[in-house]
Amino acid sequence: MTRTVYVNGEYLPEDQASVSIFDRGFLMADGVYEVVSVLNGKLLDFDGHMARLQRSLAALEIVNPLAENEYLDAHRTLLDRNAIIDGLVYLQVTRGNPGDRDFAYPPEDTPPTVVMFTQAKPGLADAPAAKTGWKIVSVEDLRWGRRDIKTVQLLYPSMAKMEAKSRGADDAWLTEDGFVTEGTSNNAYIVKDGVIVTRELSHDILHGITRAAVLRFAAEAQMKIEERSFTIAEAQEADEAFVTSASAFVMPVVEIDGKPVGTGKIGAIATRLREIYLEESRKAAV
Ligand code: PMP
Repeated sequence: MTRTVYVNGEYLPEDQASVSIFDRGFLMADGVYEVVSVLNGKLLDFDGHMARLQRSLAALEIVNPLAENEYLDAHRTLLDRNAIIDGLVYLQVTRGNPGDRDFAYPPEDTPPTVVMFTQAKPGLADAPAAKTGWKIVSVEDLRWGRRDIKTVQLLYPSMAKMEAKSRGADDAWLTEDGFVTEGTSNNAYIVKDGVIVTRELSHDILHGITRAAVLRFAAEAQMKIEERSFTIAEAQEADEAFVTSASAFVMPVVEIDGKPVGTGKIGAIATRLREIYLEESRKAAV
């Protein structure tokens, strides 16, 4: 089956979909994106992702070209046409095609480019890695200073991911001034003496939609939370570690820079949070 994708209001077979070579997303990484998970044909945390999309666009002074219900209709149409049960919907909005290359932003009436496509991931919630946990290596965080804006400039995270793979790990935790910022595409946490520690929100990290949900569920379950920075050394001495993202949900971390975390097995709190997150998000899915 040929995948149907969305480009600027049209649903097209993927091999007939295109954007201009002058698109600001292509020439300047001048665009933002969202990834929404799909379980059992339904969208997880959709409102949260739409709220963050709006924040990212506003930070770049791009006028959001669609209303939330139009995004929802498009997401549902793509799920339907591509018969997605479990998977992801990728959405990208760029500053559009000014018809030439210039550092200055194009006139405000230049229509943004909107692209969406689905990725089928059968059994997404049952990833075998959730039972064994990820190995992490630390890599210096050399990204720009506005990581709270979900831009499509993903070259450095991609390089860090490759570095992790080349060192036999599953992902990298990025560090700045000795402290962990986040993973290449996820937020980072440790657990010590029952307290969940994760970096506070700022321009230094992406404000994860899964992070917000997981911290809410943890608080509701009377778990203790500290939002502050931590070092790799502190993480290596922790009882547990884990990451969160829309596609990995809650993923335990069992090794950091070659050292086992806690027992070296997936932790009880990470495992419990994964269960709660999946259960509650499925219930609230649209
Ligand atoms: N940090 C970074 C750098 C990311 O790329 C992502 C995933 N896009 C996250 C954190 C997790 O965010 P979310 O829970 O919204 O997927």
